[in-house]
Formats: sequence, C-alpha cells, structure tokens
Amino acid sequence: MQSTNPTPSSRANSLGAKHLRRVALLLTVSGWLTAVMTMGWTLGLWHLVGWQAALIPFPGVPAGLLAVWFASRGHPYIGGAIQCGALCTVVCLTCLFLDQTTAQMPRTTHLFLVPLATGMYMGMRGSVAAPVRHALVGCVFLTFVVLACTSFGAQPDHNLPDALRIVGGKINTVAAAVAMYVAMHIMQADVEARNAYEADLREAVRTGQLMLHYQPQVDQDGRVQGAEALLRWHHPRRGMISPGEFIPLAEKSGLIVPMGEWVIDTACAHLAQLARHPGTAHLTISVNISVHQIRQPNFVVRAMAAIERHGVDPRQLKMELTESVFARDMDDLINKMKVLKQYGVSFSLDDFGTGYSSLAYLKRLPLEQLKIDQAFVRDLLTQPRDLAIAKTIIELGNTMNMSVMAEGVETREQRQILESMGCRQFQGYLFGKPMPLGALIELTTQAAPAAHVFTPPEPAADPLCDTPLHA
Ligand code: C2E
Ligand code: MG
Ligand code: MG
Repeated sequence: MQSTNPTPSSRANSLGAKHLRRVALLLTVSGWLTAVMTMGWTLGLWHLVGWQAALIPFPGVPAGLLAVWFASRGHPYIGGAIQCGALCTVVCLTCLFLDQTTAQMPRTTHLFLVPLATGMYMGMRGSVAAPVRHALVGCVFLTFVVLACTSFGAQPDHNLPDALRIVGGKINTVAAAVAMYVAMHIMQADVEARNAYEADLREAVRTGQLMLHYQPQVDQDGRVQGAEALLRWHHPRRGMISPGEFIPLAEKSGLIVPMGEWVIDTACAHLAQLARHPGTAHLTISVNISVHQIRQPNFVVRAMAAIERHGVDPRQLKMELTESVFARDMDDLINKMKVLKQYGVSFSLDDFGTGYSSLAYLKRLPLEQLKIDQAFVRDLLTQPRDLAIAKTIIELGNTMNMSVMAEGVETREQRQILESMGCRQFQGYLFGKPMPLGALIELTTQAAPAAHVFTPPEPAADPLCDTPLHA
C-alpha cells in the first residue's frame, strides 16, 4: 500500500500555517516600527513640550513590544488586537491634540490609519467573521477620512509648534508609506499562495490525487455495518493533506462541486466492489455532501446517474449533511431529499448539536439518522453538560424515529455510557481509523466482531486522524 504519511513539513507549510506566518511577520515589522517611532515621539515631546504631551504616543511603545512578543510566541492575533487598539488610540489622540491642521501645516499623523486598516483587514481574514471585519476596518477608514477632510481638534493651543510638525510630518509620511508598502507586499504574497493552492487543488481533482478512506461504523454488537467515506488529498510535494484544510478552500472556489461528484461516483464504484464479496455485501457507505453541492440544480440527477452507472443498491448509499444546509431555500432542499429518499438513498445529519438546527426543520426533513458530534462525545465522562446533550440527542432521535450514531468514540468507557443511554451505532478510533478500502474489506471479513470492537487498531491506520479538524 502506498505510504500516506504526511511529512511534518507538509503540515508546517499548509496554507493556514503560511498565512499565520505572514500575519506574524506583518506584526513583527509593524510592532518594531511602532515601538521605535512612538518611543522617539515620546522622548522628543517630553524634551520639547512636556510630560503631558509625551503621554499621548507612549502607549504605542509597550503595545508594539507586546505585539512582537505575542507574534514570536505564536499568538499573532492577540498581539494584533493589542497593537491595533493602541495604535488607533495613539493616532486619534495625536491628531486631536498635538497635530491639528493649521494654515501652515496640514496634519499627517492620520496617514498611519491607512496601513493600519490594511494590516487589520489582512490579519483578521479567516479569524474574524466577515461582517465584523468589514465593520472594524470601515470604522478605521471612516476615522481617516474625517481626520483628513476636517480640521476638527481640541483647543488649538495644545498643538505642537508648526516648525516641529513640519519635520514630524515628513517622518510620518515616509513611515506611513513604508508601512503601506510592507502591508501590500505581505497581502500580495498571501493572495499568490492562495491562488497557487487553488491551482494545485484543481490539478488534484483533474489528475486523481484525491482518494477516499473509509472509517468503519459499527452496531452495538461491534459488527461493521458500514463506513464513512472521507476525502484524502495525496499532494505530490506536501504529502497527505487533511480535508479540514482543503474543503473550506474547495467550497470557496466552487471546486467542491466536481470534487463532491467524484466522491459520490467513487463511493458507488467501491460499493459495487463491496457487493462482490459476500462478507462485505451488506455494508453501507456514507458520503459527506457539501451545502454548495446539494444546491446544484442537477444534484439529484447526477447522484442517481452515478448509482445507476455502477449498478449499486441505492439503499446502501447514505448522504451526510450538516446543519449549514438549513441556512436557506429549505423547500428546494426538502424536495431533493424526498426524491432521493424515494429512490432509496438515506440521509444522516452530521455533527448534530454544533449548528443551529430548529426542531421544526428536523421534523420536515426526511432524515434517517442523527450523528452526535464528536465534541460532545470527547468529554462525555468529565463534562455533565456534554453528557446531557448526548442524552438529549439520543432521546430526540428515538422520539423522532431516527437512528443515532455517536462519532469520535475513542474509549470503551465512552462507548459503554453511550450504549447505556440508548445509542446503538458508533464510529470512532475505538473501532477503526479511516483506512483504504482494502483494509476495510479485510477488517470486515476477517476480524471477529468482539475482536475489532475492543481492540483499537494501531494509530498508523490513517495519518490524518490526529489532525485537528476545525481548528
Ligand atoms: P466528519 O464528516 O464529521 O468526519 C469525521 C471526522 O472525524 C474525520 O476527520 C475522522 O477522521 C474524524 N474522526 C473519526 N473518529 C474520530 C475519533 O475517534 N477521534 C477523533 N479525534 N477524530 C475522529 P477527517 O477525515 O479529517 O474529516 C474532517 C471533515 O472533513 C469531515 O468531518 C467532513 O466534514 C469533511 N469531509 C471529509 N471528506 C469529505 C467529502 O468527501 N466531502 C465533504 N463535503 N466534506 C468532507
Ligand atoms: Mg461526516
Ligand atoms: Mg461529523
């Protein structure tokens, strides 16, 4: 079997890690620049004007140093928040008290708000929700416009002497231009890396670098009843890449649609292969369906075509949806699900409990199964709240005539407690990590049920299993 271990460098060079490194670099450069500049201003103002004036730029010194420190410790976002908050305050106070527009000299300190807003925009991408990011960056730009277009300020007698402001203005303009150039350069590198990654992903779909691994799903007696198909990307240079990393990019770029079609087609081909072995003919395969995929007008037709093409029993194909599908156009979704259900395909609600399900939606959807998210299973034994949630989901499933599967079961204790609460289906490392099809066939046909329930396979089965999913 082909070795699928990801190299440590492949994870270190992942798109997310590179983006984080760029944010850290931006923060280190701007942190030093802030600390040095504000220190210069603090000392200069103290000497020339007095300590009260020196207090205005001073917070930039510890904020800049803190930003550098947090960036070097791997927490660029905390450092970024401290630095942006401190810098905005320093710039605004300076503009309002010390650098007010006069007949001889317009103010210049507000120029720093442009690279600051650009850095904030880049730094918050991926870590802060888009509306919040736009609102915060928009506020900084609005402040820039107000300070640039008006001479609004405190008492004019607080202003620094024009002679000093003329020299300071030149320094400010050069420093703001340099900061803007650095921010632009880092942003460009980020965009290029993203484009290259997307091109790689396109190539992966085209040249067959994607593969499916299967994680066994067992019943209460430990018999393998089916398996979940999980995508793996075997990148020629970066090694194995986790779906947690490339699925979000595939969704953003629209590649998830051809990728999802490939998954359904390959899963059907594998189902046909399983049907040829008497020991595996009963297995079902669950495929994860993205919200973008199911929204495609031809989704139903194409899924049915794949089933027909491989001559498999549609009752052995399960589609896993997440609660994100509830966001809009429920009628279209329900119609598609009903047509497929009538055809024989069943539906499962994945990661249940983490989204925003409404019970009204649950009642309307033709679902066959709820999957308790692994986040609740993980701390079942230590967190009474997680235990209560898992219990509620199991009771809800029973009441609504749906089967309930617990995901992420790693220990016997978790399994026992879930079983005592009425859960009858399990998936998790305790029963097997995601593995190639051949290994699934071997596990199902060779292992006696009791053996593979209570003997967790060696961790080597799937190299991505330890990768955090939704970090
Ligand atoms: P998911 O559908 O909830 O899949 C379960 C994930 O939990 C898998 O991660 C699996 O390896 C991991 N897992 C299973 N048992 C355990 C356990 O006992 N402990 C721990 N810590 N983890 C466990 P994986 O393969 O990295 O997939 C991550 C997610 O990527 C999936 O979550 C799914 O949302 C998405 N995904 C994977 N394949 C596809 C696909 O073909 N299409 C779409 N749209 N999404 C996919
Ligand atoms: Mg799933
Ligand atoms: Mg899940």
